[in-house]
Amino acid sequence: MILRLLRAVNRVFPFVVLFGYMGAFLLAFICIFSFPLGALVLVIGSVLSLAFVVFFGETLGGMERILTRRALKRNRCPACRMGPIQKNAATYQCLGCGICFDMDGAQLSQDAQEIEATDANAKLIVVD
Ligand SMILES: [Zn+2]
Repeated sequence: MILRLLRAVNRVFPFVVLFGYMGAFLLAFICIFSFPLGALVLVIGSVLSLAFVVFFGETLGGMERILTRRALKRNRCPACRMGPIQKNAATYQCLGCGICFDMDGAQLSQDAQEIEATDANAKLIVVD
């Protein structure tokens, strides 16, 4: 339950931050003409809040990776909650949904999964 919630929050969090900063930019742009001190406060506040936003995002990502590793050790896929999980040389792969996870618990992107599959095929060709 917590892992599903963390996965959803981590997928949405970058877009929330992006639109938050875009909104602050638009507000600061409007403030330039009406209230210049407000624009200055918004710019300084946005720059100072960036460290907290990055720290919060990294903390959420780290918590998700910890819970993902725990679920993978229990042979449960964090994405589809089924399995079985196949442990490869450098990745875990769910045989139910096909999603690959890195050893540190991070979900591999589609491009990384294709590269992984290409490497596996290349190794198979070498073995043949
Ligand atoms: Zn799965």
